[in-house]
Amino acid sequence: MSTGGSTTTSNAEDTDNIQSRNDHLRSLRFINPLSLAFTPIPKGTAICRIHALRCGHLDVPARDLIQDVLDDVTLPLPAYAFLIEKLSPEDGSVLKRVLFDLGLRKSYGNHRYQFLTEKYQIHLSEEEEIASILRNSLNISPSSIDAVILGHRHFDHIGDLGAFPVSVDLVLGPDSEKDLVKLADYLDLPLQVLQSRNIRHLERNKDEWKEIGAFKGHDYFGDGSLFILDAPGHCAGHQNVLVRTSGNPPIYHLLASDTTHHIILAREPKQPSLRRPLISIFPEDPNKPSNLLSFHDDLEEAYRTIAKAERMDLEENVNVFLAHDISLDRLLRGGIGSAQGGVQAKNWFTLDGNAAELKRFKDREWEDLYLASAYQS
Ligand SMILES: [Zn+2]
Repeated sequence: MSTGGSTTTSNAEDTDNIQSRNDHLRSLRFINPLSLAFTPIPKGTAICRIHALRCGHLDVPARDLIQDVLDDVTLPLPAYAFLIEKLSPEDGSVLKRVLFDLGLRKSYGNHRYQFLTEKYQIHLSEEEEIASILRNSLNISPSSIDAVILGHRHFDHIGDLGAFPVSVDLVLGPDSEKDLVKLADYLDLPLQVLQSRNIRHLERNKDEWKEIGAFKGHDYFGDGSLFILDAPGHCAGHQNVLVRTSGNPPIYHLLASDTTHHIILAREPKQPSLRRPLISIFPEDPNKPSNLLSFHDDLEEAYRTIAKAERMDLEENVNVFLAHDISLDRLLRGGIGSAQGGVQAKNWFTLDGNAAELKRFKDREWEDLYLASAYQS
């Protein structure tokens, strides 16, 4: 009896705690991006070239991502990774190659995250694997990659890291050290195999960080062409990159990984009738109300990082891409950069990096892709 009584009390306390936590989470709202401090992005002549690589897609219920969805819609979210090439200022030849994120994996084997492939219906053909795109479409050997910068450790961003030799550096974001076991789990690798790689964990206190736009950034090449941005909120170690693709005029692309999964959360819609929904908070298991989740580990921090990305997007010379940006698919199918009219346009494109292209990116239509009728007006 006493045990039963105690359980009842404990459940009541749990319910109170859950209620108060949910009230707090639901009270969080978009932060006005113009209220954030902003440090002008330094100009310079050192530049990189970006290739966008579409490494499969997964079907995600919209309700898992955003609140206020009326219709029970499923969004086919692409998984984009990016090849970034540092170019010689003298002759434009490639000096360094790094990858930002690796997209989906073909197989999750028997490991404990296998259920994700069923829950989100992962679609990844052999030719969509990142190593295949590099080899077959760009004629680049995985061994010629200098480093992999992981936006974060989740299953849809880690690709098949094993396709890249251990000599390829792995760069992980602040706070990631404690989650190395989780990364090994997602990769279905023993921890010691993962640790045999040359892993660099960026640290907020030890590495050098500069104010860069709305973010704090680490100057990866030391010449301003590629900044790794601290982007907390989604999970430990979550990071973005800012790439300069033109010195004159200065043009930048912010590759935002999972800062948010939905451009409507990072950009004010042009249509006034399209109300911005909130990030979803949903019961993972309705029978276990204590296990409420959003896609972000720290929702409060996630809203702050989203506001930073939105502030960058307000700059006329900065374009923002999310890893699961459906509007990127439209650009890909329409043909852009070196992929214009080419059969290779299916899974990748190379950015020109110039002002005309930037305008196309900034002006891209996206609101209809998110099913305006699905949201409350
Ligand atoms: Zn993701």
